[in-house]
Amino acid sequence: MAPKLIIMARVNERMYRTKNPNIPYTADEIAQNAVDCENAGASIIHFHARGPNGEQSSDPDVYLEAVEAVRARSNLIVDSSLGQNLVKGDENRAAHIRKMGENIAARADMAAVDVGSTNIDFFDLEKGEFKTTDNTYVNTTKTLMFLSEVMKSAGVRPHLTCWTIPFLRTVDRLMQIGVIDEPAFIQLAFSEGGHMGSHPCTTEGAQAFYNHLPHHRKINWTVTVMGGTLLPAAAYAMEHGGHISPGIGDYEYPELGYPTNAKLVEFFVTLARAYGREIATPAEARQMLGLAPLEASVTRVAS
Ligand code: ZN
Repeated sequence: MAPKLIIMARVNERMYRTKNPNIPYTADEIAQNAVDCENAGASIIHFHARGPNGEQSSDPDVYLEAVEAVRARSNLIVDSSLGQNLVKGDENRAAHIRKMGENIAARADMAAVDVGSTNIDFFDLEKGEFKTTDNTYVNTTKTLMFLSEVMKSAGVRPHLTCWTIPFLRTVDRLMQIGVIDEPAFIQLAFSEGGHMGSHPCTTEGAQAFYNHLPHHRKINWTVTVMGGTLLPAAAYAMEHGGHISPGIGDYEYPELGYPTNAKLVEFFVTLARAYGREIATPAEARQMLGLAPLEASVTRVAS
């Protein structure tokens, strides 16, 4: 029988309200999204630190404030961004994770680690031209090992974002040498709408990923997409025992009337039920992902 479906809501990413007015920026708005998405059926919230006007933030205190706000109002598993290429230098990228390790009440359960490097130039589909021609997103193996070590010592589990098949091969080797613990949580990231760093969000794109998952290891896997609807990959995941990570942070969903995150979660819950998948509660998702129960996450005193 297929496992219960874990839904991660990707609430804001780098999306602005000019594209979808429901994008949360502040800690309070992120926490309200957590409450609404939990009621709708999500078990994880993934967020990026944003300033009051939506600007990208790398300030550790902004991250910690958001985690605390979510904890105060919801039971969702909290999954933080890792700053991506906003911040230069491994130590700076991990600054908020280190700080979370010293303040358990503001510690995320998980954080996103992209397990490799790729070109991230955006192609303007209307104009038929590249917006940039020299943008790369670089994560050396040394960086991955460093970030994994910092996360381990802070008590934050990695969610492993894989943009292409070589990333999956790297996950397998990192698990082989004990850098990544079982059960691993692998996120298959698709890209559409002028983003070309990953697989297309199609059945074929999903099948290629699925064929190269390290099925011989203890893993859970989920799907997400930048710049387009998650529907094709979500349907594939629902059929093949995977999980889903939708969010208006990734795509504004005009075809669904520019929904809130909670409305989007509701949409995918309906789809999941049609596929015969039950929805995991946050507590069930914690168990499936090998995370500590919520009480242990928030009441432990930092040493
Ligand atoms: Zn993110």
